[in-house]
Amino acid sequence: MISHLLLDIEGTTCPVNFVSDILFPYASANITQFVEENHQDASIAKILQNALDEYNNDHEWHKKSPQKQQLTDSSEDRMNLCDYFLHLISIDKKSTSLKDLQGKIWKKGYIDGDITSRLFPETADCLQQWAADKLTLAVYSSGSIEAQQLLYQHTNNGDLTALFSHWFDTHTGPKKTRESYTQICQTMHVEPNKVLFVSDSGDECDAAEQAGVQTLFSKRAGNPDQNPKHHRWVGNLRDLAQHLS
Ligand SMILES: [Mg+2]
Repeated sequence: MISHLLLDIEGTTCPVNFVSDILFPYASANITQFVEENHQDASIAKILQNALDEYNNDHEWHKKSPQKQQLTDSSEDRMNLCDYFLHLISIDKKSTSLKDLQGKIWKKGYIDGDITSRLFPETADCLQQWAADKLTLAVYSSGSIEAQQLLYQHTNNGDLTALFSHWFDTHTGPKKTRESYTQICQTMHVEPNKVLFVSDSGDECDAAEQAGVQTLFSKRAGNPDQNPKHHRWVGNLRDLAQHLS
């Protein structure tokens, strides 16, 4: 009998295109204004300093742009750095400072009410039903725990964070590694076979299964991975109830 639901977010409770169509364009459109308005904030200044280090070590970029060794407190230098961020976005570079800055911009966007997360139409009802049925709900997503909580705090169905008991991100370990699921079960003090992990990634389901966790593949239009392999699958969260025993 399942007592715990471990839920992926993107492709499972929220359409994958929310991130690509809403979050990333929002960060790009607001990056210059955000940096100009918040550069004196200590946490933003730290991100900008880290970005400058990346900038100074990026030889490809310097073929196109004059190298700046030091970030001065001038508007012009900050604009150069913003151009660099937009360049990193355009080449889909995995940059820690860019990721950190995008996180700060999204947080402000959520708090200001500019961004509302759009879950699948049935997600909020299902979460409420499962919580009412005394299932323990947990999140496991590659987005940071802060990003997970912002997403569930600012949904088109209100703040849903109180429905969840546990939050896990890749600080626990990679999502395609068996040990991550073992660790999660230990943290939740539950036997693996009482946990149902729901994800749109067949590889993540494989890793969970290797840890003895029950799996359910989320197969939805728009998801890049449409192959449930040997895992049970649902096309709508309302059908999850059939897989609880
Ligand atoms: Mg996913």
